[in-house]
Amino acid sequence: MTPLLQARDLARTYQIRRSLFGKAIPVRAVDGVSLFVNAGETLGIVGESGSGKSTLGRMLLGIDPVQSGDVLFEGKTMPKLATPEWRALRAKMQLVYQDPLAALDRRLTISSQIGEPLDIHGLIPREHRAARVEELMAAVGLRPDQADRFPHELSGGQRQRAVIARALASRPKLIVCDEPVSALDVSIQAQVVNMLTDLQAQNKLAMVFISHDLKVVRNIADRVAVMYLGRIVEEASSDVIFRSPQHPYTQALVSSVPVPGKPLESRVILQGEPPNPANRPSGCAFHPRCPIALNVCRSTTPELRSIGQGRTAACHVVPGDEAAIAA
Ligand code: SF4
Repeated sequence: MTPLLQARDLARTYQIRRSLFGKAIPVRAVDGVSLFVNAGETLGIVGESGSGKSTLGRMLLGIDPVQSGDVLFEGKTMPKLATPEWRALRAKMQLVYQDPLAALDRRLTISSQIGEPLDIHGLIPREHRAARVEELMAAVGLRPDQADRFPHELSGGQRQRAVIARALASRPKLIVCDEPVSALDVSIQAQVVNMLTDLQAQNKLAMVFISHDLKVVRNIADRVAVMYLGRIVEEASSDVIFRSPQHPYTQALVSSVPVPGKPLESRVILQGEPPNPANRPSGCAFHPRCPIALNVCRSTTPELRSIGQGRTAACHVVPGDEAAIAA
């Protein structure tokens, strides 16, 4: 089966300057990432701030240029940014940002913004536009009387619902959600996540769900890719990742997710801050914080390799066969 979306060996380097006249320093934001998303499934991408997950999300949609590697959608190479082919493809791939207020235009009503993709892509006759907007608002739990409101007249949760309705307007096959609930109150987060899950099933959508919050990802993702300093360090089904994480970084992240009946003492506390991407540690980038690092970890970068149970991990210590993992 051809995946809906496939990324092969993606890389992106930024040049940053510490001062106006300072020397530009290359920062590798995404470093050799390969992944796939099948139609109708959700891939969760998790990691701390600075792990490169948001840059990766934008690269998957072609919004951030790919410097090396390929992105394929329905088996075809993604067209270049801002070409007519790319614009046509963007109708099938949408992005939901973290901050709905920044994503919406404060001067336009909610209904006009939800209907924007219909106009941009010329998707339906003008006379059917109002009915389609009403349908989209109902699908995300917005009331008809909210159609003529402006973004600042809605709550944070309602604004994010409007952004999601706009993303659904063009009947996309894929949505990339970048921290879509992290700016919302905890009580609203669950409602929006449940709504996304329902909409995904109804519309047979594929989703890339980017988040630093594993509790949220656990509830929504079919598979999970864990990123550290621009690389995937472990990838498996959500069930396998949360049941038996193998990479020490994944173990620390998973142990921070509260489990009813499980004592907090079993939590693995990560030492230190995430390293500066402009000053990447040698070998395994996680070695300064890893409780089981070996000498080889300081000099040799571990490759992402299959370790059984349909999962991959990049670690010198993680055993490479199913028997070892099960033991
Ligand atoms: Fe830790 Fe070494 Fe594995 Fe990196 S390769 S996670 S430093 S054991």
